[in-house]
Amino acid sequence: MKGVRWDPVFDELGFPRDPDNLYLQTVATMLESAETVDLKHRVKIILAQPKNEIMVHFPVRMDDGHHKLFKGYRVQHNNALGPYKGGLRFHPDVHLDDVKSLALMMTIKCSLVRLPLGGAKGGVKCDPRALSEGELQRVTRRFTAAILNDIGPDYDIPAPDVGTNAQVMAWIADTYQMSTNNRTSTDAMRVVTGKPVEIGGSLGRNKATGQGVVDVLIEMLPALDLPMTDLTASVQGWGNVGSWAGRILEKKGAKITAVMDHSAILRNEHGFDCDALTAYCVEHGGIAGFEKQSGGSNKGIGGEAITLDEFYQQPVDVFIPAALEQMVKAREAEMLQCKVIIEGANGPVTPDGDEVLERRGIPVIPDILANAGGVTVSHFEWVQNKTNHSWTEEFVDAELNRYMVMAARRTLLARQKYGVPLRKAAYCSALEHLGDVYKVRGIFP
Ligand code: NAD
Repeated sequence: MKGVRWDPVFDELGFPRDPDNLYLQTVATMLESAETVDLKHRVKIILAQPKNEIMVHFPVRMDDGHHKLFKGYRVQHNNALGPYKGGLRFHPDVHLDDVKSLALMMTIKCSLVRLPLGGAKGGVKCDPRALSEGELQRVTRRFTAAILNDIGPDYDIPAPDVGTNAQVMAWIADTYQMSTNNRTSTDAMRVVTGKPVEIGGSLGRNKATGQGVVDVLIEMLPALDLPMTDLTASVQGWGNVGSWAGRILEKKGAKITAVMDHSAILRNEHGFDCDALTAYCVEHGGIAGFEKQSGGSNKGIGGEAITLDEFYQQPVDVFIPAALEQMVKAREAEMLQCKVIIEGANGPVTPDGDEVLERRGIPVIPDILANAGGVTVSHFEWVQNKTNHSWTEEFVDAELNRYMVMAARRTLLARQKYGVPLRKAAYCSALEHLGDVYKVRGIFP
């Protein structure tokens, strides 16, 4: 199958042979590394399927008075390392297999960063941009009610992902607190991270994933023989991850010369003013129209609209995919004119895309390492809530950097030990840890 290595575990567990299926691709990546580190068969089959797959349907009253039925998911992949942890996505394309795939990535990510957390993911099939604020709040609260017994501050702790944000987390925390026996206790608010600072969110959480992308990049560049000076980058997706990674990189002296989101694809050879682009994006719901700000490509403002192919062909040092999964397939991988890719999004490069990039000698710093900053600061938030204490932003940033640097070094060590590309190396390091944990825990009974 193109780009996907068939493993006997697939037949044992009855997997469908669909090479384009994201879940199959993620499990194949995991199993390939499992073989490299000689992971026990029993751990391989445990990790190849999630522990729990929860699917709910719930009605919500829309503003015009009619009721609409929504579908929601929560997949709890593994909790051998600690409570289930992972984001909630509100998007029209949310499917069970994608959620399963993202939940597996969370297990691997937490293990690579050595966080005492397991892996989960969830979502609601909806278009949050098409909902009024009232409708979004009712969808969120009703979904929370539907999964109320499946989440908890020491059991399963959701966080923001595509289409959700701190406000959505606040509604979930409030609904949870109001609906459980824990009603009077602020401890119940620990049920989600990525909350607004006013109700126990951590300073630095909003930018954490983008900050982590930059921390990892800076740590990895020397090992990849790339200088940090005069760095140029293109960013796909100007949401939480992409816009923060872009802004932080720009402040470190880099130029962001191409950007795309769901609404437009823009280039500015002089480098975008990333703060201005973000402010525009927040006001207009996307980057479309920003190019008209200056009527040209003057430094700092505007830019010009380009095609998708031109975006991929833009010569840059670093390409940061930070939108959705499976966007860089073999065709896009052939077009890229960059020296390194750092995955802000989860699963943006497909296995056949990976094959092309390996042949072309373009290293890929993988998602499970690059975007682990979000869950890391989520963990910090959870610890702060548990100890009733608030850390300063400087302390959060410094701790985040320490965790990211350690995870990057672990990945480089595994690359050296097994002689494999970075993605496989990161999986190998994570699986070694999970293998050790299962060795001492054993399997019940
Ligand atoms: P977001 O909703 O804030 O932003 C998503 C961005 O992708 C938006 O700019 C949107 O316009 C763009 N986009 C959507 N469809 C697109 C398309 N077809 N073409 C181009 N752009 C498109 O989401 P986010 O939180 O920034 O998450 C982005 C990715 O990072 C996801 O894969 C997510 O799972 C991953 N991630 C997020 C976090 C986090 O803390 N938010 C942590 C780890 C990983």
